[in-house]
Amino acid sequence: MLITQTNGKKLILFEEYTFLNTGKVTAGLFKWKCTDSDCTAYLLVTHNLDILKTKHKHAHDTPKYKKTPRGFYDFECDD
Ligand SMILES: [Zn+2]
Repeated sequence: MLITQTNGKKLILFEEYTFLNTGKVTAGLFKWKCTDSDCTAYLLVTHNLDILKTKHKHAHDTPKYKKTPRGFYDFECDD
């Protein structure tokens, strides 16, 4: 599912991990990479955000997020 952070950035939430649009297109599919900058997991999705392909191996825990009163998700930052 698509979620929106309070800063307006859109993320895909998939199996509790979050993915950010890289803007890159591979074979007609959009590449969304894991929001953890050290992680190489990614999704390949259509323009309708159907997830067609995943490289979904993460070397980290699921990110922490919450729903704000405005209905948006806002990630808790440790630093
Ligand atoms: Zn990851």
